[in-house]
Amino acid sequence: MSLNDSWMRRDLAVLWHPCTQMKDHEQLPLIPIRRGEGVWLEDFDGKRYLDAVSSWWVNVFGHANPRINQRIKDQLDQLEHVMLAGFSHQPVVELSERLVALTPPGLERVFYTDNGSTGIEVALKMSFHYWRNSGRPRKQRFVTLTNSYHGETVAAMSVGDVALFTDTYKPLLLDTLKVPSPDCYLRPEGMSWEDHSRNMFAHMEQTLAEHHEEVAAVIVEPLIQGAGGMRMYHPIYLKLLREACDRYEVHLIHDEIAVGFGRTGTMFACEQAGVSPDFLCLSKALTGGYLPMAAVLTTDRLYQAFYDDYSTLRAFLHSHTYTGNPLACAAALATLDIFAEDNVIEANKALAARMASATAHLADHPHVAEVRQTGMALAIEMVQDKASKTAYPWQERRGLQVYQHALKRGALLRPLGSVVYFLPPYTITPEQIDFLAEVASEGIDIATRAAVSVALRPGAPSNFHDPG
Ligand SMILES: *Cc1c(COP(=O)(O)O)cnc(C)c1O
Repeated sequence: MSLNDSWMRRDLAVLWHPCTQMKDHEQLPLIPIRRGEGVWLEDFDGKRYLDAVSSWWVNVFGHANPRINQRIKDQLDQLEHVMLAGFSHQPVVELSERLVALTPPGLERVFYTDNGSTGIEVALKMSFHYWRNSGRPRKQRFVTLTNSYHGETVAAMSVGDVALFTDTYKPLLLDTLKVPSPDCYLRPEGMSWEDHSRNMFAHMEQTLAEHHEEVAAVIVEPLIQGAGGMRMYHPIYLKLLREACDRYEVHLIHDEIAVGFGRTGTMFACEQAGVSPDFLCLSKALTGGYLPMAAVLTTDRLYQAFYDDYSTLRAFLHSHTYTGNPLACAAALATLDIFAEDNVIEANKALAARMASATAHLADHPHVAEVRQTGMALAIEMVQDKASKTAYPWQERRGLQVYQHALKRGALLRPLGSVVYFLPPYTITPEQIDFLAEVASEGIDIATRAAVSVALRPGAPSNFHDPG
């Protein structure tokens, strides 16, 4: 038995993996990873895989990056952890100062949690609580876009709209207001992203006009709806949304958990619209993909509504045990150093252009409806019928065939339903991008050639985005 097989067996005897139908692993081998270096992951049998999705969008400077490693090692010898209520430490102060300086104007306070979903919970609770503290308790509801994803905890699911992840739990969810997404994949033929995004804003305007007195906040994923299939829209939407939120006295929450830290071509997506949200949620690449941590930045105005004598009970009494963990802060500080020292955002422009040129031919593929890109995120939408953009039945799991082909070729490409995408570490080389494009093309050929027979079950999710 190979080493891979033996680790796989031991794993499958005791683990329950995330976002997985475990029965799949009767056919689909699990890949135990022994080590990582740069863009490469290596399994126990010595096979290497190019990490095209940055290990679920977190790893921006490669695996086992020497600079991040060193910073964590140094911190480890100094202080591994201390509770953040009543206590503080050097890395958390330095990181907070740097995040405040780096993010758009007005974001002056940083609250930490230990993953993206709980960061969203914090933003939702703070917004709701702000309106109570400000004598406007009717403002309780949240406005969200169709096809959005904001995490897995119950309130975060409530503001999400990817049926596969949320339908089962509907009875548990908050009652939110859903507005049609500006998703430019759905734009009328010949219309620009900008015009479509602007037109779609009419729905948001109308919802806010009707409901603003009961609305606490609008939450969006700026520019890219990630888990919803890497669907993209124009920054004009964010600009119009900021103006409307001001007009209607509604908070604006930007979930930049996936798109923050350079993914869209600027450090933060909101820069492209020239706006500051009331809450900016960051996680994923914040620690360079090393340790779980999220940061919620907000304004002094928000903060002041909670600042009072203890007995008024206005305080935000929310905590997570590992809040502000020093090792995670050290990883984040090292990550920010690399951004600053290596002029990463500028250097990424050439890589993004290479991603575009390497995949341009796929636009002519008979089963590709669109190749779309925003900065360092590129997505290829496979469809059954190109002219009508008819999707493949989700049960056919065409993306899974791309995934399996890529593994054979030594790449980790994990599609979202029928959407194949690249979200690589910024340390990828132009030649490695060409390799990924080649593997993706082959995989798409294989996946779209085959007739797939499946028993179609009624009542299944309409938008299937199970990765794999
Ligand atoms: C991943 C993600 C989350 C949830 O973060 P977790 O750390 O997985 O809980 C929330 N919002 C967006 C946009 C994400 O991509």
